[in-house]
Amino acid sequence: MRARVAVMGATGSIGTSTLDVIARNPERFDVFALTANTNADALEALIRTHRPRYAVLTEASAAAGLSAKLGHCGTEMLSGPEALVEVAAHPDCDAVMAGIVGGAGLESSFAAAAAGKRLLLANKEALVMSGSLFMQAVGRSGATLLPVDSEHNAIFQSLGNSRQTGTGVRRLLLTGSGGPLLRTPLEALARVTPDEACAHPNWDMGRKISVDSATMMNKGLEVIEACWLFGVSVDAVEVVIHPSSMVHSMVEYVDGSVVAQMGSPDMRTPIANALAWPERIESGARALDFAGMTPLEFEPVDLARFPCLRLAMDAARSGQAAAIILNAANEVAVERFLDELIGFTQIEEVIAETLGRVPTRAIGSIGDVLELDGEARHAARGVAAG
Ligand code: NAD
Ligand code: MG
Repeated sequence: MRARVAVMGATGSIGTSTLDVIARNPERFDVFALTANTNADALEALIRTHRPRYAVLTEASAAAGLSAKLGHCGTEMLSGPEALVEVAAHPDCDAVMAGIVGGAGLESSFAAAAAGKRLLLANKEALVMSGSLFMQAVGRSGATLLPVDSEHNAIFQSLGNSRQTGTGVRRLLLTGSGGPLLRTPLEALARVTPDEACAHPNWDMGRKISVDSATMMNKGLEVIEACWLFGVSVDAVEVVIHPSSMVHSMVEYVDGSVVAQMGSPDMRTPIANALAWPERIESGARALDFAGMTPLEFEPVDLARFPCLRLAMDAARSGQAAAIILNAANEVAVERFLDELIGFTQIEEVIAETLGRVPTRAIGSIGDVLELDGEARHAARGVAAG
């Protein structure tokens, strides 16, 4: 029987790559639902190609307009954030690709975890925001949580038997390219434009994660993500700069072995791995050319250049509330930067100042997460407005 897949954030970079892999393997997958925020035209094209049972647009009037345009095509249009939760937890849905960007994906990702789905997690912010609650929901429901983030998928593959035994691992080595600003003179960083920050040398991604890659906040969020996914402490995760993005991450064992996963920088590889695990399917990704490859280079990360990474590591040590505040302030600061309201180096300043202003507290429910997230966003907007 074909797996019925809900593709959350279908119009985005992860969503598009997921649908590409699904289209290459029509005998295995059936698109159950497609969701998008506001881009009705892009969603319409996807609906006509993939014929899902449900489609969701965040805004009700846009959803009504698209529904009228589609007529009786076999797809039911839904709207609003509650519809995201409805399709992700629907009893007829087998697998959920969590490809919404940011905290907007928290509730649907969590709902899929709580409903025991096969959950393909790209939406790292959801795990950063809700850590232990998320992992408890997975444990209670028996959901199969498969990491899509390329580093975490690489670690998942490299862990082999240690995933079951839980023994023998010394460190997780998270690789990061260093982004487009790795060699930019420090004094020039303040003048970096949104387009320069989004011009990633190896990966073609949405604008939010592209800016996160330029500040390396992305790697910071990934450190927190790795701690939850693999049950390790921050001190057991090391970030290594690897500019060509061919080694996607590594596991170092107590016997000195280091196991790495390699591949061309193409998200269809980890997406295909998560879709088909424990089997393997065609992804469309180009094979690595070892004869023509640039040398594999690694270097330590410079925290003076990437202060956002330090903020994230500190938040990871501090606890859940700090991670929520960090993530919320980062989302606000990146949005302000993309709108050219603040400069590139102010992203870190807004996050640090927000972390200083918003007190931490115990987090016991998703309601607590959302409340603190809202407070932190409000504070960050105030800080960014200066
Ligand atoms: P994107 O901006 O390209 O796409 C985001 C998708 O989410 C779109 O379909 C958009 O319509 C939807 N969306 C945005 N705001 C929404 C809202 N408020 N409500 C409902 N839907 C909303 O982003 P992306 O690059 O595909 O990233 C998606 C997630 O995957 C992020 O969490 C990112 O960190 C993670 N990720 C992405 C990549 C990559 O290569 N793009 C790699 C690793 C992890
Ligand atoms: Mg990644």
